[in-house]
Amino acid sequence: MADSSKMYQGSCPFCRIIAGEAEAEILYETARSVSFLDINPINFGHALVVSREHFADFNDLPKDVLLEIAESLRLVSRAIVDAVHPAGFNIFNNNGLAAGQSVFHFHFHIAPRYDGDGLKIRPNLKVYESPEHMAVFANKIRGKIKMKDKSGERE
Ligand SMILES: [Zn+2]
Repeated sequence: MADSSKMYQGSCPFCRIIAGEAEAEILYETARSVSFLDINPINFGHALVVSREHFADFNDLPKDVLLEIAESLRLVSRAIVDAVHPAGFNIFNNNGLAAGQSVFHFHFHIAPRYDGDGLKIRPNLKVYESPEHMAVFANKIRGKIKMKDKSGERE
């Protein structure tokens, strides 16, 4: 039974690219993944790898999609490094407004990096009060680890 949230969404810019209704510089495609250049790159060659189906974020991905995206991600990442020879690269994924997600269709970023390229990440790192305080969070998370994801039949 198809979930309408996973189907083409005309208001979604990535669904429009995948449907051929919006322009993009497509790099690579598989049955479950599509890669194209980010139109607002951190550096030239910055690419996205997105699910072909519309999923809102990383936690919504079924296993088959996740595994195929992981393979595409490495393939395209290696190609970017071979093509533009960056000093380094970041692979990242934003989930939710608070995390900086701007398009609510799952995507990984692959961003070539250079010394002094202007990208600044300034985390305000927290400090656990004690080993017990840290264990509270570890125990909460361990207790929620499930071997099946929330997509049900499509593990
Ligand atoms: Zn979409």
